[in-house]
Formats: sequence, structure tokens, C-alpha cells
Amino acid sequence: MARHIYVHNPFCARKCPYCDFYSVTKTSLCEDFYKAAIRETGLLGSVINGISDSGVSFGIDDKDTVYFGGGTPSLPDSRFVCSLLDEIRRTFNIGDDAEITIEVNPSSVSEEKLNDYVKAGFNRISIGIQSLDDSVLKTLGRLHDSRTAVEAVRKIQKAGFTNISADLITGVPGETLEGTKNDIDTFYGLGIKHISTYSLMIEEGTVFYDRYSNNIEDLVPPESERMMYHGVRDHLEDLGYEAYEISNSAFPGYRSIHNSSYWNSCGYLAVGAGAHGYTGNMRYGHKDDVDAYIKEMTTLSLKDYEDFLEGRKSDLDSLYVEEILTREDRMKEVPFLRLRTTEGILLDEFYRQFGVEFEDVFAQAINSNINKGFLERKERTLRLTRSGLDFANIVIEDFL
Ligand code: SF4
Repeated sequence: MARHIYVHNPFCARKCPYCDFYSVTKTSLCEDFYKAAIRETGLLGSVINGISDSGVSFGIDDKDTVYFGGGTPSLPDSRFVCSLLDEIRRTFNIGDDAEITIEVNPSSVSEEKLNDYVKAGFNRISIGIQSLDDSVLKTLGRLHDSRTAVEAVRKIQKAGFTNISADLITGVPGETLEGTKNDIDTFYGLGIKHISTYSLMIEEGTVFYDRYSNNIEDLVPPESERMMYHGVRDHLEDLGYEAYEISNSAFPGYRSIHNSSYWNSCGYLAVGAGAHGYTGNMRYGHKDDVDAYIKEMTTLSLKDYEDFLEGRKSDLDSLYVEEILTREDRMKEVPFLRLRTTEGILLDEFYRQFGVEFEDVFAQAINSNINKGFLERKERTLRLTRSGLDFANIVIEDFL
């Protein structure tokens, strides 16, 4: 059975004003953090390799995936990052055909680091470009400009990567649909095979929240943002990128297998402060506290780690249980996760997993959203319509 492992690197050079992901700028902790993460990997291996045959599901995909996200994984010394990947590959016997991704930022990636990543086995890069318009990048508080971003893509290709994804943010004040389409044309011209487009969200606790929550007239109005979303999606499709999820489009053969494992309700393991995992019946998280993580993972006993992962202990200094899932919860997660995908809910797959028809369990939510024109049935699938994409959160809410 395939393994899916997420590593959260909690370090960034500077906090971007819109970002609510967990990250700190205390890079002096990098070495200790990666040592602690190597130790956590060993503990995780001892627990998981011991119970993988006893009913814990780790997914239906046939390829292993490892994903280093963050934060900015390209910021720390690549030796730390690559040692952790070595440990993960050895511990979990990760297949040679695995998809192994690292997120990088244009401002911190270098030829030396990229060559190290290739040697260590990374074969997919996700680069946080966000925009190729320097004024939009300035608004977003990014450390790079458009020239640095394009140069970074060329370095990535020179190092031998062909499976490259780029992130774009839409709905930034001052951004235009034409400008974003031009960015996409540049990505296409550079040979980028996967593009993630995220709408700017104003999250509590961020600098943007303080700046905009009482000045929403300075933001792009929702109807313009939606127009931009659809314009971008159409443009991507015209160029041959298939939209396979609300925010993700790719050329055939370049979909993210790791992210797809989330939408397929596969189990995934988590390493690092701020990382979240799913064991098949429990969702759990690492607290947003790198100091506590380093301290605890350096000394934690195998018994305590095992007791936590197997549900006998609900709280440690650096780990907490988010949710123990009942059968009903797992059924509700299917629309929650699958309605994000273009394929939608696979009715036969639901029946195979739960032994009941999806339409019997969720008849009311299905009918009311079909009547509103937000959901459509196509053979044995149910998915959002084009107009339903604009109301995805409201539709999903009806199933919860
Ligand atoms: S670089 Fe990425 S993770 Fe770090 S603060 Fe900026 S948006 Fe957040």
C-alpha cells in the first residue's frame, strides 16, 4: 500500500503579510529542528511499520509520495533537508517511482541546493511565484521580483527537474485578469506543467487582516474576483492545463499525486512542527510551536509516541488530536474533500467503502443543490457545476 508523508518546514525568511501558515523566522533553530524531525521519523517508522498490516489504511494510490511544504523548505541548508529525506526514504522504504516534492521560493533557491535536492531524490518542485507583476509582488510583501522568479525556474530546469508546479495568487488589489493571463502565458512558455491558483483570503491574525478588515472597499470586490477566477480557469484550459481541482490545473500526467491523496481520503503521515496527519480514523496535528517540537522530539519515548498515534494519549507537548472520526464523519468527509475535485464524488467508490448508497445518505443535500443548479450528476459521479464552483463552501456545508 502506498505511503504519503508530509513534512512541514516551519521556517521563512520573513512573514508575508497575508499568510496564516505556521512559520517562524528563527532560522538559528533549523539544525536542531531537522535533527528532531529525523528522530520523529524514526519513532514514526517504529510505530507505523509495526501496525501497517493491522487495518490502518494508508491510501489507495499505488505510488508513494513525500511532500516537503511549509514555510519555506528551500530556506534551510539543503544538507539538513536532504538528510531528513534520506531518513524518510530508508525508514519507509519509499519506492523509486515515488513522487517527492519540495516547495521552494525564488528568493532562497540556489543551483547548489537544487543539485543537492536532485541527488537526494526530490523529483518535483513547487515554486511560490504568486505573480510576475512586480507591483503585485510588492503588495504581497514577497522577497522576490519577477526577474528572480523566472531565473529561479530556469535554474530548477537546469538542475534536471521537469515536473514543476507554480503558484499564483488571484484577487490581489491592483491585479488584473489580463495581467494574470500574461503570467500564465509566461509559465506556459517556460514549460511549467502544473499551476495552482489561489484566491487571496484575508485570514485573522495576519497583517492583511489588520489592514483590510475595516477597509474592505480596498479589496477586489467578490464579483470581480469570481470573474477573474473563471477567466483564469478558461485561459488555463485553452492552453491545455486540465482543471482537476478548484485551485489546481495540470497537463495530463502532471497532477499532484500527493495532494490527490488528501482528496481521496488516503491516510498520510506528518513530520514537523505545524504538520497535520491522518491515520485513517484520527486527524492529528503538531502544535505550532517549533521550540516545543525540538524539545519533545529529542527525548520523547517510543511508548508515548505510540500511545498518541494509537489513540491512548490525546495530548503531548507538541502533538494533539484534532478529531477521532466515526463512520458517519468519514462519510461526510467524502463530499467535503471530493467536491473540490473536477471528477467529483465517485458513487461506486463510496458504496464500496461504506456499503450504502451516497444518494440514500445525503438525499436532501443532493436534491436541493441540483435544484439550485450547483450540483450535477454524470453517470455514477456527482460534481459541482461551473456556477456551483462559486458556492463550493455553501454546497459542502449542506453535507456536514
Ligand atoms: S513564504 Fe510562504 S509560508 Fe512563508 S510567510 Fe510567505 S506565504 Fe507564508
